[in-house]
Amino acid sequence: MTAMPQDALVRIEDVRKSFGHLQVLRGVWLNVMRGEVVCLIGPSGSGKTTLVRCINHLETIDSGRIYVDDVLVGYRERKGGLHPVRDAVVAAQRRNIGMVFQRFNLFPHLTAVQNVSIGPVRVLGRSKHEVHAEAVGLLSRVGLADKIDSYPSQLSGGQQQRVAIARALAMHPAVMLFDEPTSALDPETVGDVLGVMRDLAAGGMTMIVVTHEMAFAREVADRVIMMDQGAIVEAGSAEQIFARPDQERTKAFLRAIL
Ligand code: ADP
Repeated sequence: MTAMPQDALVRIEDVRKSFGHLQVLRGVWLNVMRGEVVCLIGPSGSGKTTLVRCINHLETIDSGRIYVDDVLVGYRERKGGLHPVRDAVVAAQRRNIGMVFQRFNLFPHLTAVQNVSIGPVRVLGRSKHEVHAEAVGLLSRVGLADKIDSYPSQLSGGQQQRVAIARALAMHPAVMLFDEPTSALDPETVGDVLGVMRDLAAGGMTMIVVTHEMAFAREVADRVIMMDQGAIVEAGSAEQIFARPDQERTKAFLRAIL
């Protein structure tokens, strides 16, 4: 059966966004299917981070629509226009959207397991006991079974990033957004983080990943999206984009970085 656009878990429709006079997103259309792994690549400043931040409404949009699981994120429709919803509504919508940043921003005074548990306990009101067991399971899944009681300062960057991934997963999101999750890490810890992301992808998680890790994109992405100057210039399978890019800008970008 062919997947229809309305089956998409994430629907981005003609999204435009400017910062002052700088137009950063110039009408982006993108559907991400359930279980799909999409990698966003392209030169620095092309709008990849902004696009991902718009999905969970960390940035407002000027026009267009973004739906996650059929929910219009951050807005409601009225008289054909977009009207912002209350912060509490945005917060509820964000629970369905896991986000992993370049910088992991763990709570420094909480242990790994406490960092993973705090969302489900505080935000979802789940029992501490039940959440603790699940958090231990998640930390094991990201290879940190022996670090559950460590504080962030006792962990490497890569270990902290894996705690951050477990923390996002603890909310049972429908989709995980990654914004250059390995670019701030020491090279020797990058592989473990990519390994966790690879496992997540293999487990069927829907993922949108801004990355400079071309080997990762090539191996894991169902679809690679090339952005330049606020627009999608080319999209295709990893095989097609890396081996047979159509667009001159994609070719030039790949030549410059590979
Ligand atoms: P990428 O992730 O592809 O490197 P970004 O989405 O981070 O691109 O940035 C796109 C453009 O928007 C850049 O020119 C950047 O300087 C600008 N930009 C990003 N965030 C802001 C902001 N908060 N205020 C002003 N300009 C911004």
